[in-house]
Amino acid sequence: MLDFTYPRYKVERDPNQCIQCGVCARQCANEVHMVDTDLGRVVADHKKCVNCQRCVVMCPTNALAITNWPQVGNGSNNWNLAAMQDIAKQAQTGAVLLSSMGNPQHYPIYWDHLLLNASQVTNPSIDPLREPMETRVFLGSRPEALRINERERKVVSPMPPRIKLDVPIMFSAMSFGSISLNAQKSLAMAAEELGTYFNCGEGGLHKDLEKYGNHAIVQVASGRFGVDMHYLETAAMIEIKIGQGAKPGIGGHLPGEKINDEVSRTRMIPKGTDAISPAPHHDIYSIEDLRQLIFSLKEATHYTKPISVKVAAVHNVAAIASGMARAGADVIVVDGFRGGTGAAPARTRDNVGIPIELALASVDQRLRDEGIRSRVSLVAAGSIRNSADIVRAVALGADAVYCASSALIALGCHQCQACAGGKCNWGIATQRADLTKRLNPEIGAERVVNLVRAWNHEVQELMGGMGINAIDSLRGNRLMLRGVGLNEKELEILGVKYAGEQ
Ligand code: SF4
Ligand code: SF4
Repeated sequence: MLDFTYPRYKVERDPNQCIQCGVCARQCANEVHMVDTDLGRVVADHKKCVNCQRCVVMCPTNALAITNWPQVGNGSNNWNLAAMQDIAKQAQTGAVLLSSMGNPQHYPIYWDHLLLNASQVTNPSIDPLREPMETRVFLGSRPEALRINERERKVVSPMPPRIKLDVPIMFSAMSFGSISLNAQKSLAMAAEELGTYFNCGEGGLHKDLEKYGNHAIVQVASGRFGVDMHYLETAAMIEIKIGQGAKPGIGGHLPGEKINDEVSRTRMIPKGTDAISPAPHHDIYSIEDLRQLIFSLKEATHYTKPISVKVAAVHNVAAIASGMARAGADVIVVDGFRGGTGAAPARTRDNVGIPIELALASVDQRLRDEGIRSRVSLVAAGSIRNSADIVRAVALGADAVYCASSALIALGCHQCQACAGGKCNWGIATQRADLTKRLNPEIGAERVVNLVRAWNHEVQELMGGMGINAIDSLRGNRLMLRGVGLNEKELEILGVKYAGEQ
């Protein structure tokens, strides 16, 4: 069938800079660059380019630039180029459009409309270089009241199990299969070094990662891949995955080609078979059913590990979170609609769910209104881009944040959204041995540790500027935020005043 689509990207090669070394041809798993022996130079097939930027970064003479294909549209906002290209692709293939990573559409990014406060004159700021600044966080349920043995000066109330984070940042779920083992190892090693946690996602815990069990969160998802007693016992926390911000309401699908020997062993499924995660858990159709699973997992692990439940941010997320808290969840994770994924139907990713900022504020407020906020910890996920986003998330009510895309960017990801193709040139979203070896776990871990340490220091600086010396005092402290460019309804949901308002 005739192909009516045109390239998305243009490979610009500066002939004055190019030394014909062939590095770009060797680096590109998408076979964009080829050494043309007849012409005696390197040429490009623009149509195969996914804009991963590997060749641009690796070119020794900076001869390459990837630009948008200079196609002129018809000037219509409605039938724009992207809409017409999608139709051309579907007319050709009859297939659902697949994409990867987070929602790239032009919805408001509320983080960018929330400004942070700082101390001036009436309350002193704190210098984090000279004064103690606490960013340690405990996740888990808190007892409603503390019983204290006055004579022995000891807390005697039974304390629910909790996990301790030295920084308020964890690495969110990314499964082996969707990302490489070297990418997972980088995150596991970084989590251990930082005193925080990585999440193995729904694909099981590879045996090489078991030694990082004290820093591992394991998922129990609808496919139950890799779940057995050993898996549950190895982890520090167990997370029931109900939904994911990038694809609320639907399940997952890892194609059989990606199920090699290692992935098959870790997921406990036959090699080469598609790994299908159903949309619902087939034993959960109500909050009561969820409660059964939460308590089954608590019972199985002798009430020694907190149980977290992760949901996508959807319209009634606050009511759902209230049910989850009452069902016995120790930690609630809300994943906003800009959260990343290895593969999702593009229409779902781009049109379903709500922003994390609004979801987080409404969940925190609802739990406070119902007097059950202290029963659970709240983790925000779905596009945390920098330390200021973390401060905003905590001020809106989060105890901690989950990061995934930012951690992958630290490893080299350039957000090309081509993970589903399995040919990630950065060795991240691929199982091809020639590509995965490009990511050295030790170097990867060092980059991620550097990023999180820098962020944590910036969080301390921002808190110090507000005159706050412990992240606990920032949690839900919305007076530290002011809105700009927001309407009254948005301000009401976020629970923040407008900039300039006293
Ligand atoms: S890597 Fe750079 S210098 Fe080498 S062939 Fe490609 S464009 Fe030319
Ligand atoms: S992980 Fe790799 S394939 Fe996926 S967006 Fe990043 S660079 Fe592209």
